[in-house]
Amino acid sequence: MVFMLKSVRPTIVAAFLVGLCQASLAQDYTLAAPGSESQVTATSKGATLFQNVRIFDGKSAALSAPSNVLVKGNIIERISVTPIAVDANADIRVIAAGGRVLMPGFIDAHWHSFMAATAMPLLTTADPSYLHILATRQAEATLMRGFTTVRDLGGPVFGLKRAIDEGTIKGPRIYPSGAMISQTSGHGDFRFPFELPRTPGGPLSQSETKGAAAIADSPDEVRLRAREQLRLGASQIKLMGGGGVSSQYNPIESTQFTEAEIRAAVEAAENWGTYVAVHAYTPRAIRQAIAAGVKCIEHGQLIDEPTAKLLAEKAIWWSLQPLIYDADVFARMTPVSQRKALEVFAGTENAYKLAKKYNIKTAFGTDILFNAGAATRQGAYLAQMVRWYTPAEALKMATADNGELMALSGFINPYPGKLGVVEVGALADLLLVEGNPLENIQLVADPDRNFLVVMKDGTIYKNTLSH
Ligand SMILES: [Zn+2]
Repeated sequence: MVFMLKSVRPTIVAAFLVGLCQASLAQDYTLAAPGSESQVTATSKGATLFQNVRIFDGKSAALSAPSNVLVKGNIIERISVTPIAVDANADIRVIAAGGRVLMPGFIDAHWHSFMAATAMPLLTTADPSYLHILATRQAEATLMRGFTTVRDLGGPVFGLKRAIDEGTIKGPRIYPSGAMISQTSGHGDFRFPFELPRTPGGPLSQSETKGAAAIADSPDEVRLRAREQLRLGASQIKLMGGGGVSSQYNPIESTQFTEAEIRAAVEAAENWGTYVAVHAYTPRAIRQAIAAGVKCIEHGQLIDEPTAKLLAEKAIWWSLQPLIYDADVFARMTPVSQRKALEVFAGTENAYKLAKKYNIKTAFGTDILFNAGAATRQGAYLAQMVRWYTPAEALKMATADNGELMALSGFINPYPGKLGVVEVGALADLLLVEGNPLENIQLVADPDRNFLVVMKDGTIYKNTLSH
């Protein structure tokens, strides 16, 4: 190639190189979004002053004294018990909160933006563009439920995240994992039996081309797939380390991948400043993931006491979901999934007991899948945490604690800054609540009625106080 270029005129070589530059620009994310100006720009300019709020700061078990909170740009700039003076000419939106509660927006540490509210048969058969439109609508609904951040544990959401971040559509901050990396026959292998055997080097299955899953069967393949997700913008890598409920072809007791395969992903992630989260229910699957260097275990309802101790000793995050029997969710499962779900539901009680006993770093997440009705109950999942925790502990987990987990993405954190707290310098993701959720956590199960203001990144997306 070099030899051939030498033989053509320098001007042609220059034109060729300019062409290359343009090509590399065009494939990157520096180009402006097409279409009209962002719809949120108008409300994001200037500043917002919340007057007379009592603050749940994401950590403390008690509300603050009546206070005033000034948001400038996307940052909480000032918190004061004395009035904050407002220049009449300044572009400041004043919200007279009348003593209501101001708290951090919620973080769902295990969410699937693409799949939460769309039924499985649709996901496997519908036009992908239609599925992305459904996910777009669900993203706005998620934000309106007060979830200002989600850690997305699998699914094609890079485009959705981009459109949200640039203000083209409304939705939460997304920490994307991209495709869920799975071994053949693992929890992320959604192929039909007639698609097997796979020809090495042959075409990808439809869930792979969609970006929902990536099937890998050696350390080299896992490394490649992990790096691909990082290239696309994953903030952490998701691996399927054991059997799951929604998949039909693998036992819940199965351990998936080998330690060497998981370690290949861990190396790729750590070289990129981030970490691997592994789906695992059983002690064996959890222990293999820990041995391979994984920093966060997803689910883990079938854990035993020695393995819980190990999580505590190694300061591994446990991303746990309050999965208990839900008649609506159960009724929509296949018989295979129902059998597996009953095992998991039965483990939830013990899992939270151990998480508390060993003071394990525990994240709150819902993992709602394929169910539009359940998605509307995202806040109710949080409210039912009072089976095991005080309201203050549950709310802290879904705000400040989850915010700490988000920071584990290190230097590739897509939203550097403090999340999940109301404090000076933190990112301004805020809810103004009617009533005190520290006394009555059920308030968060009815966001339409009880969340009067929803702010994300300093922008107000809902305000029913200003009539
Ligand atoms: Zn999940």
